[in-house]
Amino acid sequence: MRKKVIAGNWKMNKVLSEANQFVGEVATKVPNDTNVEAIVCAPFPFLASLVEKTKDSNVKIGAQNMYFEESGAFTGEVSPVMLRDLGVTHVVLGHSERREYFNETDEMVNKKTHAAFKHDLTPIVCVGETLEQRDANETMTHVENQVKQAIKGLTEEQVAETIIAYEPIWAIGTGKTASSEDANEVCAHIRNVLKDVTSDVTAEKVVIQYGGSVKPATIDELLEQSDVDGALVGGASLEAESFLQLVEAGT
Ligand code: PGA
Repeated sequence: MRKKVIAGNWKMNKVLSEANQFVGEVATKVPNDTNVEAIVCAPFPFLASLVEKTKDSNVKIGAQNMYFEESGAFTGEVSPVMLRDLGVTHVVLGHSERREYFNETDEMVNKKTHAAFKHDLTPIVCVGETLEQRDANETMTHVENQVKQAIKGLTEEQVAETIIAYEPIWAIGTGKTASSEDANEVCAHIRNVLKDVTSDVTAEKVVIQYGGSVKPATIDELLEQSDVDGALVGGASLEAESFLQLVEAGT
């Protein structure tokens, strides 16, 4: 059985004192349950402190992006080596905001996915369609394409370890959640794509999250779906109480 993975994506929010206070509140309360994994994906300046503050807890710390090179003349960038050295375990890659505002391409996402595995970081690869693509019935082909490009060249073991977050762009930060059935339909399609490019056994291991206006009130129904194994949560992950409720739903 696949575990449930609840990942908070704080985006560009909080200052260090607020970040520390949040993990101080959740660290002792996240249950010790092997069926659920709780991850907080925080801005770079907070990562070292958050790793330190969660080291005896069941909370894992992730980054929201990274560059694919290990070091060098790339002013302003952060490398996988730096993240791993801090004790960061996960990294969100190819979030739609990065694709839209920072011109990230599928090719870059693929390079970053390889770099993550090279440095023992678990990638959370985001895919999802725009409203125009949904209306034009292009959701499945678009998402399929993004998934295939992101995992290109990975070994089957690496694909099995990849977390994929299906986030319809029209549902992010808008309060509009995809219905649980619609979310599941796309997540199931992603799993079928993974079966085609790897194997049934590998595809069944992959954790596929849904993301887009997930709230404590909507999480139960999502997690009941056959192919939704967790959630990548923005707004509702900013308050300790609602983050804990989301994690609790996965137990
Ligand atoms: P949201 O963000 O939960 O605020 O819609 C989700 C995300 O962008 O990961």
